[in-house]
Amino acid sequence: MSYTLNDKIKNLTPYEPMAGDFAVRLDANESPFNYPPVLMEQITKAVTAVDFNRYPDPCAVKLVQAFADYYEIAPDTVTAGNGSDELICLIETAFLQKGDTLLVIDPDFSMYSFYSSICEVECVHAAKDDKLQIDIEALLTTIHQKKPAAVILSNPCNPTGQGITAVQAQRLVTGAENCLIVLDEAYMDFWTESMLNKAAQYPNLIILRTASKAMGSAALRLGFAVANPTITNALRAVKSPYNVSSVSQALGQVIYTNKKILKNYQNTIVNNAKKLYNDLVDISKTISDFTVYQTCTNFVYIKTGYADALFAFLMQHSIVIRKFNSHLRITAGSEQENTILLAAVTDYFSNEV
Ligand SMILES: *Cc1c(COP(=O)(O)O)cnc(C)c1O
Repeated sequence: MSYTLNDKIKNLTPYEPMAGDFAVRLDANESPFNYPPVLMEQITKAVTAVDFNRYPDPCAVKLVQAFADYYEIAPDTVTAGNGSDELICLIETAFLQKGDTLLVIDPDFSMYSFYSSICEVECVHAAKDDKLQIDIEALLTTIHQKKPAAVILSNPCNPTGQGITAVQAQRLVTGAENCLIVLDEAYMDFWTESMLNKAAQYPNLIILRTASKAMGSAALRLGFAVANPTITNALRAVKSPYNVSSVSQALGQVIYTNKKILKNYQNTIVNNAKKLYNDLVDISKTISDFTVYQTCTNFVYIKTGYADALFAFLMQHSIVIRKFNSHLRITAGSEQENTILLAAVTDYFSNEV
């Protein structure tokens, strides 16, 4: 007998984003902008001041303070993570236990059900409606029937680009008071319906934030959980002690204290996403099987029977986007990147179809 991998991991393969050199990358919802020289100078200085021989601050106190100041919330409600991905894994493994179920509402961020399979928590699935919306009352009925220990959802949603309002989110949290509600607000900096400043009022709510999207810091791997002090203490207790590196803590502090620069980029990205949406809607007017969904994020979601062919065509033109079966998700890039993308899509429909 030799060692074999167990059933839950034996068929897994490492996560591989589209590898390779593409001229235009619109596949990962990153910011198209690197930081300007004034910020780079502060970053260089902060890196130089790191004590590389020492372990990081386990609770990332200064970073958490900078994050809390940015959003005007209390620092004792914030836990820093090595990307919000780490926090998702941590919540599912620690806040759920054997026999519990997790509820996800499809389509949503794939990592939610992925981590549940790793920690052997059963994942039950509810569905969004034809317009990709969540009916909160129907969801509450499902919660009361299936009694999940937790519900996790992205708001606004990746990949659909749709969101529930803060009023709807509040109804969900108060209507399912025995259930932990995890609201992943990875894209909320592009929208206005955040629950962040109310998170600590609820006994059963965790809000997740990330520096990877609107903050333009995907390289650093910084995520944050915001919840009442009881949940926060539990999160801090179950995380690995030195989960956020000293470099990420130092640079995160620099980034979250440059609100004006970040807000400027965010406004540009929101405008680029609106324009991308409008231009894709224009293209859709001449094509029957091409539906573009309104968005409150930095990406646009499309339903089309041409998904496979268009995705392949764009790849040939060194443009990479995301494909989910018959849906496409396109991140809003810089103006120039969006122009290149739109020209290629136009080219596809005028010459290939
Ligand atoms: C990108 C993304 C994340 C991952 O954020 P990291 O902080 O980079 O791990 C989490 N949730 C959603 C919905 C995302 O789209």
